[in-house]
Amino acid sequence: MSADLQATNSGLSGAAWTERYSGAVMNTFGPPQRVLVRGEGCYVWDADGNRYLDLLAGIAVNALGHAHPFLVAAVTAQLASLGHVSNFFATAPQIALAERLLDLIDAPSGSRVFFTNSGTEAVEAAFKLARRTGRTGMVAAEGAFHGRTMGALALTHKPAYREPFEPLPGGVVHIPFGDVEALEAAVGAGTAAVVLEPIQGEAGVRVPRADYLPAARRITEQAGALLILDEVQTGIGRTGAWFAHRHPDLHEHVTPDVVTLAKGLGGGIPIGAVIALGDGPANLLGPGQHGSTFGGNPVAAAAALATLHVIERDGLLANATAMGSRIAHALLAGGHRGIGTVRGEGLLLGIVLTAPVAARTRELLLESGFIVNSVDVDVLRLAPPLVLTAEQADSFVEALPRALDRALGEAP
Ligand code: PLP
Repeated sequence: MSADLQATNSGLSGAAWTERYSGAVMNTFGPPQRVLVRGEGCYVWDADGNRYLDLLAGIAVNALGHAHPFLVAAVTAQLASLGHVSNFFATAPQIALAERLLDLIDAPSGSRVFFTNSGTEAVEAAFKLARRTGRTGMVAAEGAFHGRTMGALALTHKPAYREPFEPLPGGVVHIPFGDVEALEAAVGAGTAAVVLEPIQGEAGVRVPRADYLPAARRITEQAGALLILDEVQTGIGRTGAWFAHRHPDLHEHVTPDVVTLAKGLGGGIPIGAVIALGDGPANLLGPGQHGSTFGGNPVAAAAALATLHVIERDGLLANATAMGSRIAHALLAGGHRGIGTVRGEGLLLGIVLTAPVAARTRELLLESGFIVNSVDVDVLRLAPPLVLTAEQADSFVEALPRALDRALGEAP
């Protein structure tokens, strides 16, 4: 074993790893909460041997949990036979995955898929596709998060993310999320596309009214603009449906022009996708107009095929629905003074607190063995593996009040 590989197995403490991290890794994320060394199912272990129930799943990524045997076997077999080719060539997993995604989304004929390595790249590709309409206007929502590359960042709303990098690609306006009149006023003859999340994840798990996306569809259609739905966080079973915009309890039926995916798609292996629905949108990007060295890589595609297979085989859409409502109902029934409401769908939940103690509650939960994240000062987000069990869900429901009591007790 090389010295470098030995170093990763050396049994160093979390504190020692963290010191090495800060001396070597660029400080874009702040200090890590823990250094993790191993995962299995819904649990991960840190360098000091502590176990955590992972209710964040790498931010809505590890759909099958950690080290799922079917995913490990699929990736291992693919890597052992053909690990990478350039896009001058095609591979069976890439083709099969594109077909499978078109099938899952019930795509009209002429639809096509473009593969990327991340969510931001999927949004970037969708942005470029929209520019090929010949129009330059883009409409996105306040609170939106679409990624960090310059085009995706232009669609992202948060000033703290945007301002240090201006000027960003122009032509983007942000309108209040869920406001049909504002959308109607913003979309016109110069609008190339409206970009929306079916549930705003990073903004604190915000769910629009069921008629919002159909209104966006009507408005874009009338203006001859594209409707792009960013399902990077909400897609691939997260809400209990393959795609959140298709969830019958969330949204009235709508067929967008473009859907972006990533996160859960590869079950932990980086892959993203842009699905262009119908031959109009699908033909907007032609030969040479976009590309990616790794996009559609056969190992990533094999991981995605395995993830989709297990989600279907093991009934994980139904499990996401059942576990999500189990947690939401139990938390609300508990009537804790610190819990205002629970919003979201399936296993994308925002626990809205009655005081701005989300960050402290997250810390206390971590100390007691639960990983969640604070997505706003008063909102905790859960996005656990879709394989979460009832027992695991209940253990969190039991632990949260204790952490909340302490956080509220410490609050000024
Ligand atoms: N779009 C949405 C809706 C997201 O939630 C995210 C990430 O959180 C992105 C895009 C960016 O994805 P990535 O971090 O894979 O680049």
